[in-house]
Amino acid sequence: MTTNTPDNCQTCPICRVKIAHDDKVYFSSGQPGTRARLYARVCQYAKKAGCINQNKEAIGTLTKSDGFSTGEEIKKMLKAS
Ligand SMILES: [Zn+2]
Repeated sequence: MTTNTPDNCQTCPICRVKIAHDDKVYFSSGQPGTRARLYARVCQYAKKAGCINQNKEAIGTLTKSDGFSTGEEIKKMLKAS
């Protein structure tokens, strides 16, 4: 299953998430999101060298809607990777 992703995406080797040149983030499933959303959902937990989404300036401000509402969802996400 693939979603429509534009060319020239960077793929985070840690999170396996694609980031387009316009900073749109393509998750393996679901709607495209932002760097902030990616960080809130994945990268802040991954915390491994090589993650391409650790630049606070590029990430910007996290909002509540960027995070998961329950710990269960986070667990699912981590298991899937
Ligand atoms: Zn990452």
